[in-house]
Amino acid sequence: MANQPFSQLPTGVWSIMSPVKGRAATAISLGVLSAFSSLTSLLTIPFIAAELLSDTPAPGVVWRWVGLALGLVVIAFTSRTFSFRVSHVGAFNLEVILRMALADHLAQVPLGYVITTGSGAVKKLVQDDVKALHAFVADSVPHIGQVCTIPIISLIAVLIADWRLGLVTLAILPVGLIFIKFALKDYEEQRDAYDHASEKINGVIIEFVQGMQVVRTFDDGSSSFARFQAALDTFTQTLRDWNDKNRFAARLGSLLFEPLPTLVVVSVVGSWLVSQGSLTIPRFLVFLLVAPRLCGAFRPIFALAYMINQANAGAMRICTVLAEPALPQPSQPQQPADASISFNSVTFAYGDGKSALQDITLSLPVGSVTALVGPSGAGKTTLARLIPRFWDINEGAIEIGGVDIRQMTSDTLMSWVSFVFQDTFLLQDTVFNNIKIGRPQATRKEVEAAAQAAQAHGFILDLPLGYDTLVGERGGQLSGGQRQRITIARAILQDNPIVVLDEATAFADPENEALIQAAIAALTQDKTLIVVAHRLATITQVDQIAVLDQGRLVELGKHEQLLAADGLYARLWARHQAAQDWGLGKKQSKRTRTNASTSMNTL
Ligand code: ADP
Repeated sequence: MANQPFSQLPTGVWSIMSPVKGRAATAISLGVLSAFSSLTSLLTIPFIAAELLSDTPAPGVVWRWVGLALGLVVIAFTSRTFSFRVSHVGAFNLEVILRMALADHLAQVPLGYVITTGSGAVKKLVQDDVKALHAFVADSVPHIGQVCTIPIISLIAVLIADWRLGLVTLAILPVGLIFIKFALKDYEEQRDAYDHASEKINGVIIEFVQGMQVVRTFDDGSSSFARFQAALDTFTQTLRDWNDKNRFAARLGSLLFEPLPTLVVVSVVGSWLVSQGSLTIPRFLVFLLVAPRLCGAFRPIFALAYMINQANAGAMRICTVLAEPALPQPSQPQQPADASISFNSVTFAYGDGKSALQDITLSLPVGSVTALVGPSGAGKTTLARLIPRFWDINEGAIEIGGVDIRQMTSDTLMSWVSFVFQDTFLLQDTVFNNIKIGRPQATRKEVEAAAQAAQAHGFILDLPLGYDTLVGERGGQLSGGQRQRITIARAILQDNPIVVLDEATAFADPENEALIQAAIAALTQDKTLIVVAHRLATITQVDQIAVLDQGRLVELGKHEQLLAADGLYARLWARHQAAQDWGLGKKQSKRTRTNASTSMNTL
């Protein structure tokens, strides 16, 4: 990772904080100082009382104690303020460092990894998880010092003041812990049941929403809603069981960590000891002041443990991404001689799974058009995505102009290959900038010319601010076809010699279809083109059709040759024709075929 801010790859919340560990340590130390001075300022009160209760109180001594108390209060307040200030600066620094490290790293990992992870998960990581870590460092780290210091100082103070009453105070803590432990007895089991029930709800909700179209068409909602209701009932029951089982123990346990019960016990036992003459009033005062804080100090410990767990979960997700290996770059980068492509015995598997592509050998001459066809899952998209190196192959080689794509820098490869895929991103920026990414130095005229060629100029001008309209995430308000034409305009501006295209475009309506076909024609003119074809009608005129089945190249040739061979392609073609006839009726089907042959010619 370039500019790696971590001395080694982080593995959890503490190591991910290493770039700001100096500030974190300072914030914790200031927290310790603040807690120490605030408690010791309280402990001056018994000394003041002792002086006032003595036979000959000396006002000078009293004022010295008061002065010390005030000084300690000022130190407590100032160190607390600085502790938070330092932690907030550390949190901001960490946020910037993590976002830069993630952006830097995501730019270097294989594109396929980013796509597989999904834009939602990447956004969650870079935005939410980093923000959660910011909140942890800013607000929780200063408390660490406090949470550790208060129980220790309080304990020392009560034991010094009177060991007997000190032990009584301490005895309350284990009782509380026993109840809490009892309440957490089946924690893992209950937690599993809870997680299971809530996962079930999520699953049913997703199923309900994804299947909305089907639900609306075939179901009045009662059966799918009933499943949701049942999952919700199980969830509520699980929560209720959990609550019923542990309510008493948990309440009693946490009550014992409240200041009041301790105060009552200490007051009763302490008053008795005072009445017996075996405890002085000033020492008794120490208990009244400090003992409630001793017990009260445990609540923040539980809260902090929870916060650390939460921060750790986010940190682990960030660490997993940072640990993803970057795409290897060549030590001696080479430039391709031309825009031909060749696959030489290419085998590829996603992760450790079974091969998605097996021993593919295929040549694409300069300026030729190659269509990839085959049943769903045959490996067409995978093969297309291997050219811009979304993933590195396991065996064989992919060459552009005689050079293995692994021997080119990513910049060189991206300057040779443009790709337009179904899930091509539009950034949250203006339409103008979204097209301009294709060639950052392009002028406004060039951007508009590209948009014109991509049949996008007209609708862009109709947008509220024309080219300066902001595009929402993943295209926002634009229709599928419009988004597609903007990404095509981007690729036209890029003007790279090789175009990889997934033709599964939003051919929602005939008008969009015609416009997109025209845009594609402008993009692919005089280019080496490889197209993942989903509708066979559009590719009957291409130079070669590569037919894939279960990851293997099973047929290669022109449309007529493949029909004559009467193999898989012929069967796919027959099925395609039947589907057209079934879907549109004879008359319309003929018209579609005529349209289709127009678009074939454009390809
Ligand atoms: P096609 O485009 O022909 O429909 P794909 O190239 O999408 O086929 O898929 C080929 C095989 O690879 C399928 O078995 C599919 O399940 C698998 N596959 C596709 N994408 C991924 C991925 N990101 N991770 C794991 N397996 C995948």
